[in-house]
Amino acid sequence: MQRILFVALSFFCIAQGRAQTNLQRPKLVVGLMVDQMRWDYLYRYFDRFAPNGGFKRMLNNGFSCENAMIPYTPTYTGCGHSSVYTGSVPAINGIAGNYWWDKEKMRSVYCAEDNTVNTVGSKSSQGKMSPRNMLSTTIGDELKIATNFQSKVVGIAIKDRGGILPAGHSADAAYWYDNSVGDWITSDYYMKALPAWVNEFNNRKMVNKYYQDGWKLLYPATTYLQSTADEKDYEAKALNGNKFPYDLSAYAGKDFGKISTTPMGNSLTAEFAKAAILGEQLGADKITDLLAISFSSPDYLGHSYGPNSIEAEDGMLRLDQELGALFDFLDKKVGVGQYTVFLTADHGVANIPEFMTEHKIPGEEL
Ligand SMILES: [Zn+2]
Repeated sequence: MQRILFVALSFFCIAQGRAQTNLQRPKLVVGLMVDQMRWDYLYRYFDRFAPNGGFKRMLNNGFSCENAMIPYTPTYTGCGHSSVYTGSVPAINGIAGNYWWDKEKMRSVYCAEDNTVNTVGSKSSQGKMSPRNMLSTTIGDELKIATNFQSKVVGIAIKDRGGILPAGHSADAAYWYDNSVGDWITSDYYMKALPAWVNEFNNRKMVNKYYQDGWKLLYPATTYLQSTADEKDYEAKALNGNKFPYDLSAYAGKDFGKISTTPMGNSLTAEFAKAAILGEQLGADKITDLLAISFSSPDYLGHSYGPNSIEAEDGMLRLDQELGALFDFLDKKVGVGQYTVFLTADHGVANIPEFMTEHKIPGEEL
């Protein structure tokens, strides 16, 4: 059973007893899913989060729903995203894993696969995806029905399943990252061609810029007291070198997938989300829109370096700043008090077995 953290932050309030016709609704609901973010990170790194960052703003001004829980299993990304956004469990919503055995097809199927659709935005097959394997409605679907489909609903994530499943069946769009070309793509389930704002964003080739800048620690290495030493034998060799600073310049122009295993994968996602808010005019009128954003990079970082690594800590501190900047952007573009944000995670993570045994705590790989 996986506990799901919900931190809900409501920037608007509904006065009790107010006539129903005057009900204030948020112009935009922003759902934030942080892939592999454990609940305890909020408090483990609390003193390290920036005063104007996202996590402190949510914890200090919002509501933390400590006991919100959907008892789903298995705790994979596809299941987490679909369980949170359908309010349901895999036995009902049909997303029983990232992959599962389909006894009618007699093969393993991928949760977001759809061979009846094609990629829009690149020539690769990474766009042959849709939410068709999901059997329940999502928050976005119900919002669409409630407003007779006047609401706009958009999903965004580096991982296709992280963008597609939360956005739901009737979404205007879901966008995900094609790591073979370094661009944001979609499928013809949603549209025939990318909107101009997506093409403009892709043309900026921001990934190369992030690679040129590399990944340096945000603060002096000696201040990362919640993490193990920088270099450990059990860490994956996911990037050039195995310690800070990471020189990523060799990846520019070719290894577009490497961005996922850096905090700049979150930056790329946040920048694309801001472009979507402007490009799709999300939150621009009185009819509530939904933007579902999933930050995939913490999961890649956790898998490569473990939850007790400096890489994981620095990733979370940078995400905190990214979220702070996103909220500032929303204040400006949608308006203070005009939008609602919630934040949760699709699943947590266990410590690396070698880390456990190093400290005489039982642990082994099965
Ligand atoms: Zn995940």
